Amino acid sequence: MELWIQENQTENLALKARVKETLFTKKSIYQEIGIFDTEEFGRMLVLDGVFQTSEFEEFVYHEMIVHVPFYTHKNPERVLIIGGGDGGSAREALRHKDVKEVRMVEIDGDVVEACKKYLKQNSIQLIEEDKEPRFTLEIGDGIKHVEETENYYDIIIVDCSDPIGPGEGLFTKKFYQNVLRALREDGIFVQQTESPFYHQELLKRVYKDVSTSFNYANVFLANIPIYPGGLHTFTIGSKKYDPLKFEEILPRVKEDLKYQYYNKDIHKAAFALPQFFKEILDSAAK
Ligand code: SAM
Repeated sequence: MELWIQENQTENLALKARVKETLFTKKSIYQEIGIFDTEEFGRMLVLDGVFQTSEFEEFVYHEMIVHVPFYTHKNPERVLIIGGGDGGSAREALRHKDVKEVRMVEIDGDVVEACKKYLKQNSIQLIEEDKEPRFTLEIGDGIKHVEETENYYDIIIVDCSDPIGPGEGLFTKKFYQNVLRALREDGIFVQQTESPFYHQELLKRVYKDVSTSFNYANVFLANIPIYPGGLHTFTIGSKKYDPLKFEEILPRVKEDLKYQYYNKDIHKAAFALPQFFKEILDSAAK
């Protein structure tokens, strides 16, 4: 019997993936969790029917959401990851040996347990948590965590699911104001902010909120095969360092860290935006 999983990306568009085996399904208090072994993407995490991450392509997302802000910052020591339940962002952050502290605040412990068991490529850091004194996993609401934090983090990564359910509050002006306060005076914030083709209203609102909160606000792109349209955005807000000052940033890139997607050329090119998208962001900033 043929088995497929389907994500309805819009009302009129869906992405289907042929499934070899269903590894895990559970309805947690927050969402429907599934991990499937697929023909095309290997093992894939699906939350509330939305394709989140897979063995085949996760390196793109996790390298870009971590290394772009890390090198933009002069010397990141204290890092907060909100969400990130699969562990990919924590894995990439801890590869930076001069980072002193990585705290991951994930609201759903069931996602963490499922990924530790069935998505080991992403969750290696979660599995070996006790071997890494710099890493702390906190099961809680990232919105509340930043509300209660002041002037502490150098980098805040919002590796969240889509703006539905527990993730909805991570895309509000109030949240960005709290992130601003939770960051140190030269802090940097980055968030996955969906598709430049299918989520333009969300992107306009987020860009307006971030650009009116931070001294610098930019959007960068990466090609992610399992997301709508295959092109995905990340929004970066910086209090002191200009994310476009590549002449200062790129010399900081550690070439000895082995990357599969990220490199100096990709870092710079990621900020080159298609004209239609530049105009959307310019209209939002007004
Ligand atoms: N890192 C993956 C990727 O490549 O896109 C997927 C993102 S990760 C699975 C998204 C996580 O955000 C989920 O595990 C979800 O439970 C978590 N999340 C959603 N809202 C949250 C909140 N308010 N606080 C903390 N975690 C939250």
